[in-house]
Amino acid sequence: MNSILWLAAGALAGALITAMLIAWQWRRWQQQHTEQLETSMQSHNLELQIALDELAEKNRLLEQQNMLDTLSGIYNRACFDKRLSNELKRSRREQTTLGLVFVDIDHFKKINDSHGHLAGDAAIQQIASVLAASLKRSSDAVFRYGGEEFALLLPGTELAGCIELAEHVRQKISATPIEIDSLNLNVTLSAGCYAAVADANSSSNDYIAAADSALYQAKKLGRNRTASANANANVNVTPIIQESANES
Ligand code: GH3
Ligand code: MG
Ligand code: MG
Repeated sequence: MNSILWLAAGALAGALITAMLIAWQWRRWQQQHTEQLETSMQSHNLELQIALDELAEKNRLLEQQNMLDTLSGIYNRACFDKRLSNELKRSRREQTTLGLVFVDIDHFKKINDSHGHLAGDAAIQQIASVLAASLKRSSDAVFRYGGEEFALLLPGTELAGCIELAEHVRQKISATPIEIDSLNLNVTLSAGCYAAVADANSSSNDYIAAADSALYQAKKLGRNRTASANANANVNVTPIIQESANES
């Protein structure tokens, strides 16, 4: 009888130990499996993050490219429209003066007609570089507005500052022939300036119309000069002729 009890107790203990071993093994397997899963998830998360970062960088570059003019490398018209609208809101909010200068190459058609479109392209590129190099503040920006027309957006700049910058560029271009291959081209610019603090009724078109109107006057009065529009008159402005060069 005793031996039967011992046998039963031994079998029970054996079964218990086997069950404990199986449970321990099962837990170990589960732990290992969970760790593997976690490691695999971490590595997938890392890969996903890298892919997302690369995508964000590509998007940033693409957005930057979309804002640039392919010929001159400066900002394009679409970027100008966006920046002008933003700066106008800032001017209204902070009650600061927003300056705008339009610059147009004089008799540009003649350059194309006499020396070819590639020479014309090179002139556009070189003038864009001079304009970009002339900017003084980090908030200043230069844009290719159209064919051979550029816009300088100058936040926080009064009319006198706009005229000074326009004159600096005009005189520099007028005094330095542009070198294109073996050619030395004498190129001149006309500029139209406008500056105002935006009010509740101001729109981008008001600024564009005023600067354009001043530019038109500079052209009409002989080219190679800077004109400015009066801040109180957005339409039919009377230009102030700042300086007129000897050559036209
Ligand atoms: P104005 O003094 O009145 O400004 O005369 P303009 O001849 O400069 O003016 P207009 O606006 O009549 O002519 C501009 C010319 O610029 C017309 C167009 O063929 C040329 N043009 C526009 N875009 C480009 C370009 O990207 N490259 C070249 N080479 N020419 C261009
Ligand atoms: Mg022109
Ligand atoms: Mg033009």
